[in-house]
Amino acid sequence: MSISNMERAKILNEALPYIQQYSGKTIVVKYGGNAMISENLRRAVISDIVLLNQVGMRVVVVHGGGPEISDMMKKIGKEGVFVDGLRYTDPETMDIVQQILCGKVNKDLVALIDEFGGRGIGISGMDSRLIEAVRNTKNDYGLVGEITKINTAPVETLLSAGYIPVISTVAAGADGEKCYNINADTAAAQVAAALGAEKLIILTDVLGLMRDVNDPASLISKCRVSEVPLLVREGIIKGGMIPKIECCVEAVRRGVNRAHILDGRIEHSVLIELLTDAGVGTMIH
Ligand code: ADP
Ligand code: MG
Repeated sequence: MSISNMERAKILNEALPYIQQYSGKTIVVKYGGNAMISENLRRAVISDIVLLNQVGMRVVVVHGGGPEISDMMKKIGKEGVFVDGLRYTDPETMDIVQQILCGKVNKDLVALIDEFGGRGIGISGMDSRLIEAVRNTKNDYGLVGEITKINTAPVETLLSAGYIPVISTVAAGADGEKCYNINADTAAAQVAAALGAEKLIILTDVLGLMRDVNDPASLISKCRVSEVPLLVREGIIKGGMIPKIECCVEAVRRGVNRAHILDGRIEHSVLIELLTDAGVGTMIH
């Protein structure tokens, strides 16, 4: 596709009011698992994040990494156990989660930010007790924690100095346990709420919330928080989409202006959503 210089200028110009609106505001991007599938997509997402930071937004990346954890488990011959679509975390799995999330996945994202000329700093929820959690007593997922507290100070410090904090979702135990595995959607929502973020953006592997997962035409572009319970009762929101939507609802209830579920498989979906007149994915408000 080739476009004229005038069209190029128009597109750049279209971004001006959005840059003015969001400059200085905090944007939390959850980048997870199934949306991190390819190197090309990772590069597109990370270059978007560096651009947003460059035009003055305070961007925080919160990441998961289920597929990478599963890969490592396979390599060492350990079977993953899932309960209701969520990973069961035994102590040996927790060790792998810590190594892969806080190590490999976190530092690979930081290296990509660096490649695009941004300044990323990778920290885990354990660093300076950024995320505190206790064992989830409602459902037994092993060492999966329920967040009890977010200590925003380390993130605020990094943001004020112009860094892009990249947070892996392993929490410090507040009940004597060393650490807990945390669902990355939940962590992102809680971090967004605690920071008083303008937006929470959850990148995943579908267009957004759809009435029928197999029909792209059934995409729900906008959804009010009050409409969610019915969608759950009707069985439209299910599986991995449940924690996502619930987290968006929680974030919005706690003051985050808007939450978006975007397709991480579409290159530059973050830029399209934030800096153009086009809306993609599902907006929860
Ligand atoms: P992630 O790794 O991004 O957390 P998940 O697999 O946990 O991804 O969650 C996204 C999945 O939720 C989609 O791939 C889709 O199969 C499922 N899903 C369930 N209900 C819906 C719905 N109504 N609209 C879109 N996706 C849905
Ligand atoms: Mg998920």
